[in-house]
Amino acid sequence: MARHAADKFDQRDHAWMREALRLAGRAEAEGEVPVGAVVVRDGQVIGRGWNRNIGLDDPSAHAEIIAMREAGQKLANHRLVNCSLYVTLEPCPMCAGAMIHARLERIVYGASDPKTGAAGGKFDLLLDPAHNHAPAVEGGCLAGECSESLKTFFRSRRKSTVATQVD
Ligand SMILES: [Zn+2]
Repeated sequence: MARHAADKFDQRDHAWMREALRLAGRAEAEGEVPVGAVVVRDGQVIGRGWNRNIGLDDPSAHAEIIAMREAGQKLANHRLVNCSLYVTLEPCPMCAGAMIHARLERIVYGASDPKTGAAGGKFDLLLDPAHNHAPAVEGGCLAGECSESLKTFFRSRRKSTVATQVD
């Protein structure tokens, strides 16, 4: 029997995504767009990241890039072989490119991103068969919680922008 779309993720997937969500909270606390990511190998987190573009004055400081950098340092290898990456939001084209270079085995994301998502949300970059490395890509893990944290952030930001304009 075909498995339900809702239960293609197991408890461990949910646990890693919860950790990514916790890191998204750190981004939010620092005034960044709340996205978090973890790189996992052999049941252990070897890289953690959250969006830090503003704090680091770095256009490439997305959660996934930071998590992959840390994992590479830990493994002393630019290839993250046998690693999975969990991220709360569908990766953008920049991160998708880095993920292909990293040779990740599996990529799991939470919310879809119809604006810049590169796993089919907007672009089909991550799944393009032209790559010589094809990671497994699965979206929708804790999608409700992941998109809720982003929605709440943008809602409160809109409110504060309005408040500033009124002031
Ligand atoms: Zn990105």
